[in-house]
Amino acid sequence: MTERATGRDLPLLPGTGGRALPVPVLPAGERDPGHLSILYRGPLASCDYDCPYCPFAKRRDDTGRLRRDRAALERFTAWVAGRDHPVSVLFTPWGEGLVRSWYRRAMIGLSHLPHVRRVAIQTNFSCRPDWLAEADLGTLALWVTYHPGQVAYGRFLAKCRDLAGRGVRFSVGVVGLPEHLDHARRLRADLPAEVYLWVNAAEGHPYTDAEAADWTAIDRLFRYSRTPHRSAGQPCRTGDSVISVDGEGTVRRCHFVPEVLGNLYDGTFRPAARACPAALCDCHIGYVHLEPTGLYDVFAGGILERIPRAD
Ligand code: SF4
Ligand code: SF4
Repeated sequence: MTERATGRDLPLLPGTGGRALPVPVLPAGERDPGHLSILYRGPLASCDYDCPYCPFAKRRDDTGRLRRDRAALERFTAWVAGRDHPVSVLFTPWGEGLVRSWYRRAMIGLSHLPHVRRVAIQTNFSCRPDWLAEADLGTLALWVTYHPGQVAYGRFLAKCRDLAGRGVRFSVGVVGLPEHLDHARRLRADLPAEVYLWVNAAEGHPYTDAEAADWTAIDRLFRYSRTPHRSAGQPCRTGDSVISVDGEGTVRRCHFVPEVLGNLYDGTFRPAARACPAALCDCHIGYVHLEPTGLYDVFAGGILERIPRAD
């Protein structure tokens, strides 16, 4: 299954006492010189949930893989800590990261670095929330996916309310499968109004206008997800101000184009504006950076964690 089907657009750091910089809300079309956004995905591929639409359901990583994942994450966060320019990070693990202590520590550590504008992670948020008390909540954010069938509704809603009560910046979303519609409606009604609930179109699922209207009533931005974006030859910020990095430091422009652009750690990556080589882009973590979508304006200040600009 793809990231779209799963609802994901599929170290300990040197101590700093610094305050995080506020995330700038840029005027329409304005660039942000020197700022690099990184989508990081290490070896981790295990999850504590068992979603029927996901290949990582209940998969286990052996001890060696977990060690490699931890070491890779620590190397990555140390690299980020050493930058002299603004950086934002979205962790996009195949599996669930926050049940692992090293992801929680990475989030906390990065959140306190003055040049880190945002650190976010895609998560089912099955973990306990206590660790968030150690983070700088001006920088940390969560991309939470609700998986009906894996967690009792009341329990998930209580977690969301807890996050809101703690002042955590987060979005919540669901895969737009027909069997999720009632859950999504109920969640939308029960969540605080200021919490954005996104809906990812289900992979290979064409929506009639009536069905799309049902989902749009829950997520006013559903039209961006409903059908893949024709991206071939279009300007996309990936490979320039946005990159994808794996556990070895291999740099690609995004998670969906396999061409290697260099390595983060040996200095062989050089950012450059590049048109999209793929025919279509159908995941939010990709097409949000596709310039013709205009989504940098829609999500200004919350691009990585998928939180629209407050109107
Ligand atoms: S919660 Fe786990 S099993 Fe469910 S979609 Fe996400 S990674 Fe897959
Ligand atoms: S449009 Fe999508 S697939 Fe194309 S380069 Fe950008 S993120 Fe990658």
